[in-house]
Amino acid sequence: MSRIIDGKEVSSYIKEQIRKKTEKLKNKGLTPGLAVVLVGNDSASKVYVRNKKAACELCGFYSASYELPEETTQAQLLELIAALNADNRIHGILVQMPLPAHIDADAVVKAILPEKDVDAFNPENVGRIMLGNHSFLPCTPAGVMELLKYYGISVSGRECVVIGRSNIVGKPMAMLLLHDNATVTICHSKTADLASVTRRADVLISAVGKKAFVTTDMVKEGAVVIDVGINRGEDGKLCGDVDFESVSKKASYITPVPGGVGPMTIAMLMQNTLTAAELSKRS
Ligand code: NAD
Repeated sequence: MSRIIDGKEVSSYIKEQIRKKTEKLKNKGLTPGLAVVLVGNDSASKVYVRNKKAACELCGFYSASYELPEETTQAQLLELIAALNADNRIHGILVQMPLPAHIDADAVVKAILPEKDVDAFNPENVGRIMLGNHSFLPCTPAGVMELLKYYGISVSGRECVVIGRSNIVGKPMAMLLLHDNATVTICHSKTADLASVTRRADVLISAVGKKAFVTTDMVKEGAVVIDVGINRGEDGKLCGDVDFESVSKKASYITPVPGGVGPMTIAMLMQNTLTAAELSKRS
């Protein structure tokens, strides 16, 4: 039976550290500020935005939120971003994805100043992650690395397999593992004989978005299994990519969904906002 990696516990610990550092910063006259921008009526996005605002409050940040109607034009959104770029109360700008189809998400991401890009999606920040001289790490992969660190799981020299190659999870995840000296394989929808690759993994990370996708036959005995996926079962309940019931009997450590990687993403967003505020003081 595997040990459960408790993302709620780790994220609470991290947010408490951030709250303490924020208190000190505020005593020196600097309050970290995060602007969260939501366009449209996506119900999942609304929940994410609400959770991000709550986390800001808990950490003692200044937060500003903008809920714009679905018909907002790209020019209007870019105008708001320009205003937030110039606002020195705001250290981090987060535009909740996905955006409505008539808005070019790449143009929006590029418009955010790299030093306020707390999602780390701007091409400059993506490039810096590749080079290893980053200020901000992409929140979900950074959250996974923090979970591994908290539980004393080293990836150095070990076989790590990431399933999924998206720009927000799979690719940066692989890069962070590589920076920590893992031997990394990225799998994706065109990978041949996926199970033969995943069975090599000492640490298996799934970011696919398909319920019960990772089954026991794909997992090596004693592997660490990290489930990034967020899916809904027929019963409407949240679940990950991993068939938790069976895989938890074989893995040494496993993350649940919910309560695993999810809470870490927001904690890392708070960490990036704190970092952005600290860096603004130095510049
Ligand atoms: P995506 O759809 O952009 O990427 C999915 C990846 O899965 C693709 O790279 C694709 O190649 C791969 N894939 C699809 N079918 C496959 C198959 N049969 N075999 C192997 N690989 C296959 O999704 P994403 O944005 O990377 O998100 C992945 C999952 O993680 C989603 O469920 C998403 O909701 C979740 N997510 C969770 C968090 C969090 O905070 N926990 C954050 C971001 C995304």
